[in-house]
Amino acid sequence: MDLDLIPANPYLLLTPGPLSTTKSVRAAMLRDWCTWDDDYNQMVETVRSRLVALASPQPGYSCVLMQGSGTFSVEATISSAIPVGGKLLVLNNGAYGDRIVKIAQYHKIAVLAQDSGELGAPDLQRLRQNLEQDSAITHVAVVHCETTTGMLNPIYEIGAIVKEFKKTFIIDAMSSFGGIPIDMDEVQADFLISSANKCIQGVPGFGFILAKREALETCRGRARSLSLDLYDQWQAMDKGKGKWRFTSPTHVVRAFSQALDELQQEGLVERFNRYRNNQRLLVNGMRELGFETLLPDAQQSPIITSFISPKDPDYSFQNFYTALKKRGFVIYPGKVTVAATFRIGNIGDVHAADMTRLLTAIELLC
Ligand SMILES: *Cc1c(COP(=O)(O)O)cnc(C)c1O
Repeated sequence: MDLDLIPANPYLLLTPGPLSTTKSVRAAMLRDWCTWDDDYNQMVETVRSRLVALASPQPGYSCVLMQGSGTFSVEATISSAIPVGGKLLVLNNGAYGDRIVKIAQYHKIAVLAQDSGELGAPDLQRLRQNLEQDSAITHVAVVHCETTTGMLNPIYEIGAIVKEFKKTFIIDAMSSFGGIPIDMDEVQADFLISSANKCIQGVPGFGFILAKREALETCRGRARSLSLDLYDQWQAMDKGKGKWRFTSPTHVVRAFSQALDELQQEGLVERFNRYRNNQRLLVNGMRELGFETLLPDAQQSPIITSFISPKDPDYSFQNFYTALKKRGFVIYPGKVTVAATFRIGNIGDVHAADMTRLLTAIELLC
């Protein structure tokens, strides 16, 4: 494929996903696939096994691909993992933690939201107390990178406590998996969820659940929804060697397979370093221009950063957004309620030179 035939994007997406992909990922979508054919099913199996290899070098893990956006995979996990009479504790500090609580409520699953506020790290002492005092709790869920603020939650410390109490541990690693090295075995996670259009740099259309095989086994007969039945989807894929129960997003899977090739070429640690370097260049440059970050550096992820909106009475996000878009950059509105903010993501096919160009564009607007 001559990549010169693939149109360039009109602007760079500095968002938490869908994000800017490479031309080679977009080019990978230019043919059709039969969902019953070996060519396609083998690709699905390769994608699954490569995701498992990214999740941990230890044996005993499997991967389930699920149609829909990332939330569908979170919902499939919550509604399939927690048994009747079980109870979920959610360590909540943002919109995505809230979403997990809401999913549990929709499915009439008992849920305890341990809220630490949008700017607060999860209180590990309180987690311990809650697990001591409420023996009904069977599962604990947390968001790794809370995309609402850009905060990174301490999943290793949380996992140690959850396992001390022998509970099942679920991580929404949607916006971090593939961009921050995570070993599920070291984190002691039973389920870890992400999607195609975040740090692996594919296009939107499906999510995936990485899980211990024994944790997936417990989901048998527990699902509260047919299409989101995690166990059934897993069984169908495993036994069918890459078959999906219902129509799968074939072109998106092919693009994802290409994105995994590109992640392997770059290297996971190198990708993490590129993102971290992008984020540092961005924050250092923005601070020089007089902007403040919402979070202290110690809590900040290398994925997306919230900046406090300028105090200038003439500032409006819409004008700022439109002016930057004209210069080739799309940023993201703020999502916290505690302060007026805007967000800039630095994941995807985004490099140091892009950060420098962005800072020049912002300087011209200031
Ligand atoms: C992107 C994201 C999701 C899923 O969002 P969708 O819009 O359903 O893809 C879930 N959790 C986090 C932390 C995210 O960043």
